[in-house]
Amino acid sequence: MRNKLIFLTLTAIILITSCRRTEAPEIRPAMADFILNTVCVIILYDRGEAHIYEEIFARIREIESRMSAFIEGSYIARINRAAGIEPVRVPPDVFFVVERAVQVAELSNGAFDPTVGPIVALWDIGGRNPRPGLPRIPSQEEIDKLLPLVNWRNVELNRENQTIFLTEPGMALDLGAIAKGYAADEAAAIIRNARIPQAIVDLGGNTLLVGLKADRTPWRVGVQTPFAERGVYLGVVETWETSVVTSGGYEQFIIYNGVHYYQYHHLICPTLGRPAQTGLISATIITGVSMDADAFSTAIFVLGHEKGMELVESMEGMEAIFILEDRRIFLSSGLAEGVDFILVNDDFRIAGN
Ligand code: AMP
Ligand code: MG
Repeated sequence: MRNKLIFLTLTAIILITSCRRTEAPEIRPAMADFILNTVCVIILYDRGEAHIYEEIFARIREIESRMSAFIEGSYIARINRAAGIEPVRVPPDVFFVVERAVQVAELSNGAFDPTVGPIVALWDIGGRNPRPGLPRIPSQEEIDKLLPLVNWRNVELNRENQTIFLTEPGMALDLGAIAKGYAADEAAAIIRNARIPQAIVDLGGNTLLVGLKADRTPWRVGVQTPFAERGVYLGVVETWETSVVTSGGYEQFIIYNGVHYYQYHHLICPTLGRPAQTGLISATIITGVSMDADAFSTAIFVLGHEKGMELVESMEGMEAIFILEDRRIFLSSGLAEGVDFILVNDDFRIAGN
């Protein structure tokens, strides 16, 4: 009898624990999805309950559906269609990102310009409108016709009414250089709200690190070796609780009949209407707000080494790593070589500023 009771109790305990187990939330170390035209990876380690991942990915999808110029019915598409006609009322997040984009345009003296849309379309960046035959290398005449439409000063933001108006017909916003960063910030906000102590948000190389690693050491973020296979890095950034974002001309360029036309990449000089050629191969920006890291990495690639470094040094809490075509690497003044940035490839060398 006693034995039977023990047996019964044991069965009950096993049943209870097994019930508990099925009721316990499923934990996944990481999840990935293709959104914002890139692979979005979220790593929550041993705290990744399914509903948190769902909330994060739903928010990233919402940002895409509101801010992509290529999605019919997005607020950006609506603003573009209403260019020269009427202001469009937008939700607070769209207003916030466009407002910051215009501020970065001003700070970078127009090197970053969210009204670069018509030129992006002309070069068919992103390959959404591929034409038969040669890839799009527009004539100077075509470029000259569209250049007057690129001007961030013609974006009218009405804070009171929460409206955005492009004053000239044919103007078009493109948030391709800033929206991923904003999406990373929003993902991090959900992660922090859920009190998850450490996580990685990686939206196609737009990285945001939440907290320190579990062993309390800094994260190590690889800086891509230009023109090498993706994932091959020439150096490592050691950092925590910040965002690391790289803009590089090698990320997207024209390939035709097996020939790589590296000079025709996706980072446009808004004054020339052509891919920027400044001697920089990539600009990596480290700063707390991922939206800023994203926008400034594009701005600085276009500005080039000297003006770019001047801008970085003028921004509080912003650091940078520049890789030049001649294989020199420049670090901003707040980065210590061998501590914050560790070079692991002898083909490159760190130059004094
Ligand atoms: P990113 O990869 O963040 O450097 O952003 C590049 C994307 O931003 C391109 O694919 C274009 O859609 C857009 N873009 C290109 N040049 C500029 C620029 N000078 N200012 C703002 N956006 C740009
Ligand atoms: Mg960017």
